Amino acid sequence: MVLAHGGAANDPAVSDGCQAACQAALAALADGAGALDAAVAAVVVLEDDERMNAGTGSTLRLDGSIQTDASVMDARGFGAVAGLEGIKNPVRVARAVYQTPHRLVVGRGARELALRLALAEADLSTARAREKHAARMATLGGGVFAALWQDVPEVFWKKAAQAGGACDTVGAVVRAADGTFAAAASTGGIWCALPGRVGDVPIPGAGIEVGDAGAVVATGVGEVIWREHLCARVHQAMMRGVPAQRAVDQAIADITRSHPDVDVGLLAVDRTGGGAAVTREMPWARAER
Ligand code: ASP
Repeated sequence: MVLAHGGAANDPAVSDGCQAACQAALAALADGAGALDAAVAAVVVLEDDERMNAGTGSTLRLDGSIQTDASVMDARGFGAVAGLEGIKNPVRVARAVYQTPHRLVVGRGARELALRLALAEADLSTARAREKHAARMATLGGGVFAALWQDVPEVFWKKAAQAGGACDTVGAVVRAADGTFAAAASTGGIWCALPGRVGDVPIPGAGIEVGDAGAVVATGVGEVIWREHLCARVHQAMMRGVPAQRAVDQAIADITRSHPDVDVGLLAVDRTGGGAAVTREMPWARAER
């Protein structure tokens, strides 16, 4: 079983891209790939889909730059990159980190690793992302940096939600026929972020978690997801026997109570099924052979 999403607060109309990602993962499994490489295959499709905030089409930072974070995880290991610039498929670099003795490689080192592995470079900015950036900057007028320093997070995220949502990142969870689980996630980060800001995606237990009970990925405001250890909490619930759908529903209900103005979405797969839940809306798809 494969589930893929195109980001909390993104338009559910782009769910066809998530379905294409699920199909890529199923094709990889049919070709003999393990759960981890199937999850990577799904996320590569989503990174290449410019309607999503990952890889091509990533959200611009406050200074107009693009920096990406990505991670991959299974029950045996983890690999992630953060602050990576100019590489077409950040999830492939995270997959490469998984094979090193390290867990998280950032910035220049991540880019050098990608170039050493001959992974494709790309200008990830699109006209659509640039227009969105300009429109969002306009809603905050000249006060973007002032808003960052002066607003308490609740006020800041409320403004972000009113300006069209902060998120649109991508992720996938996989259960292979042999019962193994994996997850992968990739993002340009939230909008209105300082260069160098890192969210939940490359942090195990925050934006991604895989263990014996299943696999979980999150999307939404990374600062909140990280603080709440959201994916770890969902996985812990599944370890206690709570089914994936109920586990993600419960986590979203908790977030809605504690952070009513924040967009968050979750996908999870367990031994018997899968589930998705979101505070507002999120494109996602599920597929099974
Ligand atoms: N969680 C991502 C981050 O905070 C953003 C997203 O989900 O769209 O970097």
